Amino acid sequence: MLVSAKEMTAAARAGHYAIGAFNLNNLEWTKAVLKAAQEEQAPVIVQCSEGAGKYMSGYKTVVDMVNDVMDNMHITVPVALHLDHGTYEGCLACIDAGFSSIMFDGSHFDIEENIAKTKELVALAHSKGMSIEAEVGGIGGEEDGVVSQGECADPEECAKIASLGIDFLACGIGNIHGKYPANWAGLRFDVLEAIKDKVGDMPLVLHGGSGIPTEMIQEAIKLGVSKVNVNTECQIAFAEATRKYIEAGKDLQGKGFDPRKLLAPGSDAIVATVKEKRSSAPTARHDALTASHCICRARTGICRTNTEMKRVCRQDIPSCYFRPYMTGQSAIIVFRKLFIPLFQAYHNLPG
Ligand SMILES: [Zn+2]
Repeated sequence: MLVSAKEMTAAARAGHYAIGAFNLNNLEWTKAVLKAAQEEQAPVIVQCSEGAGKYMSGYKTVVDMVNDVMDNMHITVPVALHLDHGTYEGCLACIDAGFSSIMFDGSHFDIEENIAKTKELVALAHSKGMSIEAEVGGIGGEEDGVVSQGECADPEECAKIASLGIDFLACGIGNIHGKYPANWAGLRFDVLEAIKDKVGDMPLVLHGGSGIPTEMIQEAIKLGVSKVNVNTECQIAFAEATRKYIEAGKDLQGKGFDPRKLLAPGSDAIVATVKEKRSSAPTARHDALTASHCICRARTGICRTNTEMKRVCRQDIPSCYFRPYMTGQSAIIVFRKLFIPLFQAYHNLPG
Protein backbone atom coordinates (compact mmCIF):
# COMPACT_ATOMS: atom_id res chain seq x y z
CA MET A 1 0.00 0.00 0.00
CA LEU A 2 1.31 3.43 -0.93
CA VAL A 3 1.76 5.86 1.94
CA SER A 4 1.97 9.63 2.21
CA ALA A 5 5.53 10.95 2.40
CA LYS A 6 4.66 13.19 5.34
CA GLU A 7 5.67 10.84 8.14
CA MET A 8 8.85 9.59 6.49
CA THR A 9 10.15 13.09 5.72
CA ALA A 10 9.17 14.41 9.18
CA ALA A 11 11.02 11.47 10.77
CA ALA A 12 13.99 12.15 8.51
CA ARG A 13 14.01 15.82 9.48
CA ALA A 14 13.90 14.94 13.18
CA GLY A 15 16.52 12.23 12.78
CA HIS A 16 18.89 14.23 10.55
CA TYR A 17 18.83 11.92 7.59
CA ALA A 18 17.17 12.11 4.18
CA ILE A 19 14.78 9.98 2.16
CA GLY A 20 15.92 9.16 -1.37
CA ALA A 21 13.40 10.19 -4.03
CA PHE A 22 14.05 8.41 -7.31
CA ASN A 23 12.35 9.24 -10.60
CA LEU A 24 10.66 6.47 -12.55
CA ASN A 25 10.77 6.12 -16.31
CA ASN A 26 9.32 2.69 -16.97
CA LEU A 27 8.78 -0.80 -15.57
CA GLU A 28 12.52 -1.52 -15.27
CA TRP A 29 13.02 1.64 -13.21
CA THR A 30 10.10 0.79 -10.95
CA LYS A 31 11.33 -2.73 -10.25
CA ALA A 32 14.93 -1.62 -9.77
CA VAL A 33 14.23 1.25 -7.35
CA LEU A 34 11.80 -0.83 -5.27
CA LYS A 35 14.21 -3.77 -5.22
CA ALA A 36 17.03 -1.56 -3.94
CA ALA A 37 14.81 0.04 -1.28
CA GLN A 38 13.61 -3.35 -0.06
CA GLU A 39 17.11 -4.80 0.06
CA GLU A 40 18.35 -1.72 1.90
CA GLN A 41 15.29 -1.81 4.16
CA ALA A 42 14.74 1.90 3.65
CA PRO A 43 11.59 3.93 3.10
CA VAL A 44 11.58 5.37 -0.41
CA ILE A 45 9.83 7.95 -2.53
CA VAL A 46 9.30 6.96 -6.14
CA GLN A 47 8.37 9.92 -8.23
CA CYS A 48 7.33 10.71 -11.73
CA SER A 49 7.48 13.92 -13.72
CA GLU A 50 4.56 14.92 -15.93
CA GLY A 51 6.63 14.04 -18.99
CA ALA A 52 7.44 10.59 -17.63
CA GLY A 53 3.79 10.13 -16.71
CA LYS A 54 2.80 10.84 -20.30
CA TYR A 55 5.53 8.51 -21.56
CA MET A 56 4.23 5.70 -19.36
CA SER A 57 0.75 6.26 -20.86
CA GLY A 58 -0.83 8.16 -18.01
CA TYR A 59 -0.83 8.53 -14.23
CA LYS A 60 -3.30 5.71 -13.72
CA THR A 61 -0.88 3.34 -15.43
CA VAL A 62 1.90 4.56 -13.13
CA VAL A 63 -0.22 4.04 -10.01
CA ASP A 64 -1.30 0.56 -11.08
CA MET A 65 2.23 -0.39 -12.10
CA VAL A 66 3.79 0.72 -8.81
CA ASN A 67 1.06 -0.93 -6.72
CA ASP A 68 1.22 -4.18 -8.68
CA VAL A 69 5.01 -4.34 -8.65
CA MET A 70 4.95 -3.75 -4.87
CA ASP A 71 2.50 -6.62 -4.43
CA ASN A 72 4.40 -8.92 -6.72
CA MET A 73 7.79 -8.18 -5.16
CA HIS A 74 6.40 -8.28 -1.60
CA ILE A 75 7.68 -4.80 -0.84
CA THR A 76 7.25 -4.08 2.87
CA VAL A 77 9.20 -0.83 3.28
CA PRO A 78 7.10 2.36 3.21
CA VAL A 79 6.74 3.64 -0.38
CA ALA A 80 5.28 6.99 -1.43
CA LEU A 81 4.37 7.68 -5.06
CA HIS A 82 4.99 11.36 -5.70
CA LEU A 83 4.41 13.71 -8.63
CA ASP A 84 7.61 15.63 -9.40
CA HIS A 85 7.28 19.29 -10.52
CA GLY A 86 3.54 19.14 -11.05
CA THR A 87 1.48 21.83 -12.70
CA TYR A 88 -1.82 22.75 -11.06
CA GLU A 89 -3.69 20.51 -13.53
CA GLY A 90 -1.12 17.72 -13.16
CA CYS A 91 -1.61 17.77 -9.38
CA LEU A 92 -5.38 17.42 -9.78
CA ALA A 93 -4.90 14.52 -12.18
CA CYS A 94 -2.53 12.71 -9.81
CA ILE A 95 -4.84 13.23 -6.84
CA ASP A 96 -7.54 11.51 -8.90
CA ALA A 97 -5.27 8.79 -10.19
CA GLY A 98 -4.23 7.55 -6.74
CA PHE A 99 -0.77 9.01 -6.11
CA SER A 100 0.05 9.31 -2.41
CA SER A 101 1.99 12.57 -2.70
CA ILE A 102 2.25 15.56 -5.05
CA MET A 103 4.57 18.43 -5.74
CA PHE A 104 3.09 21.67 -6.96
CA ASP A 105 5.76 23.69 -8.71
CA GLY A 106 4.41 27.22 -8.80
CA SER A 107 7.89 28.70 -8.77
CA HIS A 108 7.41 30.33 -12.18
CA PHE A 109 4.33 32.23 -10.94
CA ASP A 110 4.71 35.40 -8.92
CA ILE A 111 4.71 34.67 -5.20
CA GLU A 112 1.06 35.70 -4.68
CA GLU A 113 -0.21 33.31 -7.32
CA ASN A 114 2.12 30.58 -6.10
CA ILE A 115 0.68 31.05 -2.59
CA ALA A 116 -2.95 31.00 -3.77
CA LYS A 117 -2.58 27.84 -5.87
CA THR A 118 -0.40 26.06 -3.29
CA LYS A 119 -2.96 26.81 -0.56
CA GLU A 120 -5.77 25.34 -2.61
CA LEU A 121 -3.82 22.19 -3.40
CA VAL A 122 -2.68 21.75 0.23
CA ALA A 123 -6.33 21.57 1.33
CA LEU A 124 -7.21 19.15 -1.44
CA ALA A 125 -4.18 16.88 -0.94
CA HIS A 126 -4.59 16.75 2.83
CA SER A 127 -8.29 15.96 2.51
CA LYS A 128 -7.18 12.80 0.70
CA GLY A 129 -4.40 11.95 3.17
CA MET A 130 -1.70 12.86 0.65
CA SER A 131 1.48 14.82 1.28
CA ILE A 132 2.37 17.90 -0.74
CA GLU A 133 5.64 19.58 -1.68
CA ALA A 134 5.83 23.17 -2.93
CA GLU A 135 8.64 25.12 -4.54
CA VAL A 136 10.00 28.60 -4.11
CA GLY A 137 12.38 30.14 -6.60
CA GLY A 138 13.48 28.12 -9.58
CA ILE A 139 15.87 25.19 -9.57
CA GLY A 140 18.51 25.78 -12.25
CA GLY A 141 18.71 23.58 -15.32
CA GLU A 142 15.90 22.00 -17.28
CA GLU A 143 12.90 20.02 -16.13
CA ASP A 144 10.46 18.81 -18.77
CA GLY A 145 11.30 21.66 -21.10
CA VAL A 146 10.91 24.34 -18.43
CA VAL A 147 14.23 26.11 -18.08
CA SER A 148 14.80 27.94 -14.84
CA GLN A 149 17.73 30.18 -14.16
CA GLY A 150 16.72 31.06 -10.59
CA GLU A 151 19.42 29.63 -8.40
CA CYS A 152 18.64 30.68 -4.85
CA ALA A 153 15.27 31.01 -3.15
CA ASP A 154 14.35 34.03 -1.07
CA PRO A 155 14.10 32.91 2.60
CA GLU A 156 11.17 35.26 3.20
CA GLU A 157 9.21 33.71 0.35
CA CYS A 158 10.13 30.25 1.66
CA ALA A 159 8.63 31.18 5.03
CA LYS A 160 5.40 32.34 3.33
CA ILE A 161 4.98 29.10 1.38
CA ALA A 162 6.05 26.93 4.34
CA SER A 163 3.33 28.50 6.49
CA LEU A 164 0.60 27.23 4.13
CA GLY A 165 0.67 23.75 5.67
CA ILE A 166 2.78 22.02 3.04
CA ASP A 167 4.67 18.90 4.14
CA PHE A 168 8.07 19.62 2.57
CA LEU A 169 9.59 22.48 0.63
CA ALA A 170 11.82 22.64 -2.44
CA CYS A 171 14.06 25.67 -2.59
CA GLY A 172 16.93 26.53 -4.88
CA ILE A 173 20.30 26.71 -3.12
CA GLY A 174 22.54 26.65 -6.18
CA ASN A 175 21.49 23.09 -7.14
CA ILE A 176 20.50 22.32 -10.73
CA HIS A 177 18.78 19.58 -12.68
CA GLY A 178 20.73 17.36 -15.04
CA LYS A 179 24.50 17.15 -15.26
CA TYR A 180 26.49 19.68 -13.24
CA PRO A 181 28.88 21.83 -15.30
CA ALA A 182 32.61 21.64 -14.49
CA ASN A 183 32.59 25.23 -13.25
CA TRP A 184 29.65 24.73 -10.86
CA ALA A 185 30.17 26.81 -7.71
CA GLY A 186 28.61 24.31 -5.27
CA LEU A 187 25.64 24.47 -2.92
CA ARG A 188 24.96 27.76 -1.11
CA PHE A 189 24.92 26.69 2.52
CA ASP A 190 24.55 30.30 3.65
CA VAL A 191 21.23 30.48 1.78
CA LEU A 192 20.16 27.07 3.11
CA GLU A 193 20.92 28.20 6.65
CA ALA A 194 18.94 31.40 6.17
CA ILE A 195 15.99 29.38 4.82
CA LYS A 196 16.21 26.91 7.71
CA ASP A 197 16.10 29.80 10.17
CA LYS A 198 12.88 31.02 8.57
CA VAL A 199 11.05 27.72 8.11
CA GLY A 200 11.98 25.91 11.33
CA ASP A 201 11.41 22.15 11.23
CA MET A 202 9.95 22.11 7.73
CA PRO A 203 11.68 19.25 5.82
CA LEU A 204 13.53 20.67 2.82
CA VAL A 205 14.02 19.03 -0.55
CA LEU A 206 17.23 19.00 -2.52
CA HIS A 207 16.42 18.72 -6.22
CA GLY A 208 19.10 17.76 -8.73
CA GLY A 209 20.77 15.40 -6.25
CA SER A 210 22.68 13.63 -9.08
CA GLY A 211 26.29 14.68 -9.20
CA ILE A 212 26.42 16.77 -6.01
CA PRO A 213 29.49 15.70 -4.01
CA THR A 214 28.62 13.43 -1.07
CA GLU A 215 30.05 15.80 1.55
CA MET A 216 27.82 18.58 0.24
CA ILE A 217 24.74 16.36 0.45
CA GLN A 218 25.68 15.38 4.00
CA GLU A 219 26.13 19.01 4.96
CA ALA A 220 22.77 19.89 3.38
CA ILE A 221 21.11 17.08 5.38
CA LYS A 222 22.55 18.56 8.58
CA LEU A 223 20.93 21.86 7.62
CA GLY A 224 17.43 20.46 7.16
CA VAL A 225 17.35 18.66 3.80
CA SER A 226 15.19 15.57 4.32
CA LYS A 227 14.44 14.47 0.74
CA VAL A 228 17.08 14.16 -1.96
CA ASN A 229 15.89 13.84 -5.56
CA VAL A 230 17.90 11.62 -7.88
CA ASN A 231 17.13 11.14 -11.55
CA THR A 232 20.05 11.79 -13.90
CA GLU A 233 22.43 9.44 -12.07
CA CYS A 234 20.14 6.45 -12.63
CA GLN A 235 19.67 7.42 -16.28
CA ILE A 236 23.40 7.61 -16.90
CA ALA A 237 24.03 4.31 -15.10
CA PHE A 238 21.31 2.61 -17.17
CA ALA A 239 22.65 4.01 -20.45
CA GLU A 240 26.25 3.10 -19.67
CA ALA A 241 25.44 -0.49 -18.76
CA THR A 242 23.26 -0.90 -21.86
CA ARG A 243 25.97 0.58 -24.06
CA LYS A 244 28.52 -1.84 -22.63
CA TYR A 245 26.23 -4.80 -23.34
CA ILE A 246 25.75 -3.76 -26.96
CA GLU A 247 29.36 -2.75 -27.57
CA ALA A 248 30.43 -6.18 -26.29
CA GLY A 249 28.16 -7.64 -29.01
CA LYS A 250 26.07 -9.52 -26.46
CA ASP A 251 22.85 -8.64 -28.21
CA LEU A 252 24.14 -10.63 -31.19
CA GLN A 253 24.90 -13.76 -29.21
CA GLY A 254 22.12 -16.35 -28.88
CA LYS A 255 18.96 -14.62 -27.76
CA GLY A 256 20.82 -11.64 -26.41
CA PHE A 257 18.41 -9.39 -28.31
CA ASP A 258 15.57 -10.44 -25.98
CA PRO A 259 14.62 -7.22 -24.15
CA ARG A 260 14.59 -9.11 -20.87
CA LYS A 261 18.30 -9.76 -21.46
CA LEU A 262 19.11 -6.51 -23.22
CA LEU A 263 17.68 -4.36 -20.41
CA ALA A 264 18.96 -6.47 -17.52
CA PRO A 265 22.42 -4.87 -17.14
CA GLY A 266 20.84 -1.40 -17.16
CA SER A 267 18.30 -2.45 -14.55
CA ASP A 268 21.02 -3.91 -12.34
CA ALA A 269 22.93 -0.65 -12.74
CA ILE A 270 19.92 1.30 -11.39
CA VAL A 271 19.71 -0.99 -8.35
CA ALA A 272 23.43 -0.43 -7.73
CA THR A 273 23.12 3.34 -8.18
CA VAL A 274 20.21 3.63 -5.76
CA LYS A 275 22.10 1.60 -3.15
CA GLU A 276 25.30 3.51 -3.70
CA LYS A 277 23.52 6.85 -3.47
CA ARG A 278 22.17 5.83 -0.10
CA SER A 279 25.32 4.31 1.32
CA SER A 280 27.34 7.34 0.22
CA ALA A 281 25.57 9.26 2.98
CA PRO A 282 26.29 7.06 6.01
CA THR A 283 24.24 9.12 8.43
CA ALA A 284 21.25 8.90 6.18
CA ARG A 285 21.67 5.19 5.69
CA HIS A 286 22.08 4.30 9.35
CA ASP A 287 19.16 6.34 10.57
CA ALA A 288 16.92 5.42 7.72
CA LEU A 289 17.59 1.77 8.48
CA THR A 290 16.58 2.27 12.06
CA ALA A 291 13.49 4.21 11.21
CA SER A 292 12.40 1.84 8.50
CA HIS A 293 12.44 -1.13 10.81
CA CYS A 294 10.96 -0.15 14.06
CA ILE A 295 10.86 2.94 16.13
CA CYS A 296 10.19 1.10 19.38
CA ARG A 297 13.72 2.08 20.33
CA ALA A 298 12.38 5.58 20.75
CA ARG A 299 10.86 4.38 23.99
CA THR A 300 13.69 2.32 25.43
CA GLY A 301 16.83 3.35 23.60
CA ILE A 302 17.22 -0.25 22.51
CA CYS A 303 15.23 -1.62 19.65
CA ARG A 304 13.81 -4.84 20.95
CA THR A 305 12.35 -5.97 17.69
CA ASN A 306 15.11 -4.94 15.36
CA THR A 307 17.78 -7.36 16.52
CA GLU A 308 17.13 -9.80 13.74
CA MET A 309 16.36 -7.08 11.19
CA LYS A 310 12.71 -7.98 11.22
CA ARG A 311 10.62 -5.97 8.84
CA VAL A 312 7.50 -6.02 10.92
CA CYS A 313 7.06 -5.01 14.52
CA ARG A 314 6.26 -8.16 16.50
CA GLN A 315 5.22 -6.17 19.52
CA ASP A 316 2.03 -4.27 19.79
CA ILE A 317 3.61 -0.90 20.42
CA PRO A 318 1.54 1.98 19.03
CA SER A 319 4.61 4.08 18.25
CA CYS A 320 6.16 1.44 16.01
CA TYR A 321 6.82 2.77 12.54
CA PHE A 322 5.41 -0.33 10.94
CA ARG A 323 2.32 -0.84 12.99
CA PRO A 324 0.15 1.87 11.39
CA TYR A 325 0.55 0.44 7.94
CA MET A 326 -0.76 -2.85 9.19
CA THR A 327 -3.65 -1.92 11.42
CA GLY A 328 -5.58 0.75 9.60
CA GLN A 329 -6.80 4.26 10.06
CA SER A 330 -7.05 4.45 13.85
CA ALA A 331 -3.44 3.41 14.17
CA ILE A 332 -2.40 6.10 11.73
CA ILE A 333 -3.89 8.67 14.09
CA VAL A 334 -2.13 7.10 17.08
CA PHE A 335 1.01 6.99 14.98
CA ARG A 336 0.88 10.68 14.15
CA LYS A 337 0.33 11.62 17.76
CA LEU A 338 3.01 9.35 19.16
CA PHE A 339 5.63 8.75 16.58
CA ILE A 340 7.09 12.15 15.92
CA PRO A 341 7.29 13.33 19.56
CA LEU A 342 8.82 10.01 20.63
CA PHE A 343 11.31 10.06 17.83
CA GLN A 344 12.30 13.60 18.71
CA ALA A 345 12.56 12.68 22.38
CA TYR A 346 14.89 9.87 21.50
CA HIS A 347 17.16 12.12 19.48
CA ASN A 348 17.23 14.74 22.21
CA LEU A 349 18.50 12.26 24.79
CA PRO A 350 21.93 13.23 26.08
CA GLY A 351 24.85 11.23 24.71
ZN1 LIG B 1 13.44 18.98 -9.54
